[in-house]
Amino acid sequence: MASVALSEIEAARRIIAETAVATPLVPSPHLSSLAGREFLLKLEIVQPMGAFKLRGAANAVMRLPEGTAGVTCCSTGNHGRGVAYAARRRGLRAVICMSSLVPQTKIDGIRALGAEVQIVGRSQDEAMAHSRRLVVDEGLVEISPFDDPAVIAGQGTIGLELLEQCPDLATVLVPLSGGGLAGGIAAAIKAVKPSVRIIGISMDRGAAMHASIAAGRPVEVEEVASLADSLGGGIGLDNRFSFELCRILLDDVVLVGEAEIYRALQTVYYEDRLVCEGACVVGVAALQAGKLAPSPGPIATIITGRNLDMKIHADIMQGRDVVLGDLTINGQPYHA
Ligand SMILES: *Cc1c(COP(=O)(O)O)cnc(C)c1O
Repeated sequence: MASVALSEIEAARRIIAETAVATPLVPSPHLSSLAGREFLLKLEIVQPMGAFKLRGAANAVMRLPEGTAGVTCCSTGNHGRGVAYAARRRGLRAVICMSSLVPQTKIDGIRALGAEVQIVGRSQDEAMAHSRRLVVDEGLVEISPFDDPAVIAGQGTIGLELLEQCPDLATVLVPLSGGGLAGGIAAAIKAVKPSVRIIGISMDRGAAMHASIAAGRPVEVEEVASLADSLGGGIGLDNRFSFELCRILLDDVVLVGEAEIYRALQTVYYEDRLVCEGACVVGVAALQAGKLAPSPGPIATIITGRNLDMKIHADIMQGRDVVLGDLTINGQPYHA
């Protein structure tokens, strides 16, 4: 059975300590009053490249042997950014493969970190196939965004921090895509305190892990535009680690809609004064939409990243419509 040991996650914490930061866990007064119990935000947006993915990427990159030719990956953006950042710190070449659905800001951000970017196809799976060709043709080492034990252990360090920062933690809401984050956090927390409920949250458009858990095996879903673009993409039909971890360790998976994500982005901005991307507010969206089963004790959600197009962010804060590919989300001004 796939698993990531607590000792691997503790080792990752030491390995990434100089590259990624231990992030603050702060209460949200507004969301706490809405939830009727303490609601905490784990601020991964303060990582140097703006998202938690630095943790997993740094653990994988720092563990590579001397003499490695370079690294490659496919990414909806933040993993590519994390790999680029970690590779530069180690002085390694990095080639990041992305699908044409990835927003331009994310591409620019990765080039600014000194990595090569190659745009291939219209889905994460096509970008992944290209990355695998680079392994054969150019001798690069591929780092999966979620299906690699070193990456999962790196993301799991968030779980260790959460338990130290809030020992009576009862529930964690984890934005869920390929499941490296949710699988890593669940592996860490369930090893120490199995009573904590770990709930994955995805957008209802193209939720690959949710569909795969329901089917009992990895399945493909159509990839579509979403405000939570970082949650797009498949889990890989040949998934080896993150699917089993999520299938076994997650207590539930909840889906949220685009209008709910839109409103949650406004809430964390106007109430908590945070700029973040759609993927990271799905936990807040689930709370606001009344989609969480009631249960006692503090809840934390992972505010996973802040790498979004600031023009879209400004439109949402002003209550304007947002058009993403075939999708239009009707604007609403913010009301508490
Ligand atoms: C990658 C990502 C996620 C989801 O992580 P997985 O390990 O793929 O489940 C959530 N939020 C942001 C901002 C991300 O970049």
